[in-house]
Amino acid sequence: MTPRFHWTQSAAFSERVDRLNLHGLHFQHINLCRRRAWMYLHRINFAQWNCRVATGLAHQETRYKRDRSTIGLFGLAPDRLDWEQAIVFENKGTGGAQIAVDRQVGYYAVMLSIATGRAWTARVQVLTNRRWREVALDSALLDGLWHDSLALERLSQSEQVPETSKIGLCASCSLAPFCGYD
Ligand code: SF4
Repeated sequence: MTPRFHWTQSAAFSERVDRLNLHGLHFQHINLCRRRAWMYLHRINFAQWNCRVATGLAHQETRYKRDRSTIGLFGLAPDRLDWEQAIVFENKGTGGAQIAVDRQVGYYAVMLSIATGRAWTARVQVLTNRRWREVALDSALLDGLWHDSLALERLSQSEQVPETSKIGLCASCSLAPFCGYD
């Protein structure tokens, strides 16, 4: 039997998520680059500007079908759910940016835990080496998610593009043309 979930911040966290319309990628982006998170919050993305990227995304969406039981989960887009054991799965091509990926899957786990009252865990499957790791919804992860949600709220209210320096991620970031870091 899965343990019960209890977090004193559940109501305030859910309220902020609903109000700002947050989902998993916001929690990944805020841990990668504040400017990227700001652009994502303000709905600036390269796919809107480039029809080839938009076509590629549509193709990927129809070719790699997700677990159908994830359809209809508002704001959640995990790859697979094990409803019986309360495990949420996310596939990644590589194991890079571990904190950012853990926050994304941690977000799925916390929202499912709040909704069902059961304590969910997350599992990240790395496709290139066929390894996986478990992401436990412990107090450190809950604390991280809480602070991420506060940072996302501040960014959503800011009209100012955050200052950032060029980082390693810029080389593969689709938003690099907007930053002049391409
Ligand atoms: S190009 Fe670099 S600075 Fe700009 S949004 Fe992407 S990661 Fe952030």
